[in-house]
Amino acid sequence: MIRTTHIDDFFTIAQADFFPNEKLQVNSAILKGRDYCVVWDTFSYPRNMMEFSQHLEKKTAMAVYSHADWDHCWGTCGYPFEHVVAHTNSLDRFENELPSTLKKMRNEHANGWKGVKLITPDVTFDEKLTIDMGYYSLELYQFRGHTSDSIVGFIPEWGVLLGGDSFEAVPVINDPAEVPLWLHNLESWIKRSDVKKVFPGHGSLTDKTIMVKNYEYLQGLSEKKMLPAPVDSKFYQQVHTDNLKKMGVVLGKQSKS
Ligand SMILES: [Zn+2]
Repeated sequence: MIRTTHIDDFFTIAQADFFPNEKLQVNSAILKGRDYCVVWDTFSYPRNMMEFSQHLEKKTAMAVYSHADWDHCWGTCGYPFEHVVAHTNSLDRFENELPSTLKKMRNEHANGWKGVKLITPDVTFDEKLTIDMGYYSLELYQFRGHTSDSIVGFIPEWGVLLGGDSFEAVPVINDPAEVPLWLHNLESWIKRSDVKKVFPGHGSLTDKTIMVKNYEYLQGLSEKKMLPAPVDSKFYQQVHTDNLKKMGVVLGKQSKS
């Protein structure tokens, strides 16, 4: 089951569970253009994408991956997309990481991801790619930090920034070496006066404050400050504990994700 919210005639967002027996949810969005639609991230289950595709009004659609983390791109085979767009660095992840992650998760959760077929992007870019939607445009930019293939999508006509996991209640640090770049990217987007709304990969449609909070958090950990967990949920407390260890603020072994 997905929870859908129509923001306006051109922009629909949805949330769905992405892990068995957990309340964790992942976001997706549909952007309606004149001749075709774009789906920003495709959930983790094809059945969720199938349900969300009712809002595509049978138009041709392309999917865009904010990054190749499994919870954002395993639902793609739930709809026959004409193209799948992502950052060039995602290709390596589709080749080497995702097949083994899928195998592992299928073993651990019987029936969990039964009909999942990995759909590798067929259109990739490095720095920037603009999609002409007819009434407006969708600009895709690299946003390295959370992962090496993270991107953001910006709609200048609306001031909406689609973020994947580049912005999150507690940002998930995978590689501490990427954090300086992450900070740099956050800083340049925080400075922009044309960003009005921010749509993260998890959680509600919000505004720039999430970027400011993420910047302060990542900057604090870079300075080895012992920060409190920004959010009081079991999941994010664990993320925070792992972040502290990864950034060398506290010593200890990270939990296996
Ligand atoms: Zn995610």
